[in-house]
Amino acid sequence: MRHPGPYVGMVLPRCKRGRVAAASPADYMRGMSETETSAPLLPILIYPDSTLRKAARPITPADADEVRRLVPSMFATMYKAPGIGLAANQIGSLLRVIVVDVAPKEEPHPLALINPEIIAKSSETATQEEGCLSIPDQYAEVTRPARVKVRYQDMQGARKEIEADGLLAACLQHEIDHLNGVLFVDYLSALKRNMLLRKLAKAMREQQAR
Ligand SMILES: [Zn+2]
Repeated sequence: MRHPGPYVGMVLPRCKRGRVAAASPADYMRGMSETETSAPLLPILIYPDSTLRKAARPITPADADEVRRLVPSMFATMYKAPGIGLAANQIGSLLRVIVVDVAPKEEPHPLALINPEIIAKSSETATQEEGCLSIPDQYAEVTRPARVKVRYQDMQGARKEIEADGLLAACLQHEIDHLNGVLFVDYLSALKRNMLLRKLAKAMREQQAR
């Protein structure tokens, strides 16, 4: 289960831990260097931090140095949490970059997506339990398109596309939502959302009191 303390990104749903349907494993950056995994951890913004509600801006070639600095730290922070996805908003940067890895721990499939964009989605939907490292320890079922096609640039600036279903599809949609200031609780009924956010506020108060 999860460590106590602040978290980042999308949390692997409890029921889905270890079960992965990755669409194009060849697209993934397999294995990470020692430098990448030991990159400095970044503090995670927790709801209701206002940066979580802001839209991130497209990354241009002028941002290359910042992105190269940021992405290894985003991976390190996501793995440490542990989470399966992290958007730049969650660590206080408003650049359009997300990192995801929904693979089991023994076989990491890290994927960094620059300027990701959903270019197609299925009319068929799927419901999965989601959690968010910016909304620690709160989970709810969210219904989204079951399959998506995402266009993005990789770390070398090459244009790529990935088709995803299952957990990866939900994770990509969850993280791209973050870049638009959207959170998974926005998909819940007002009643469910208010209940969940009240539980979060209570847990945060208790944590601060300790
Ligand atoms: Zn999230």
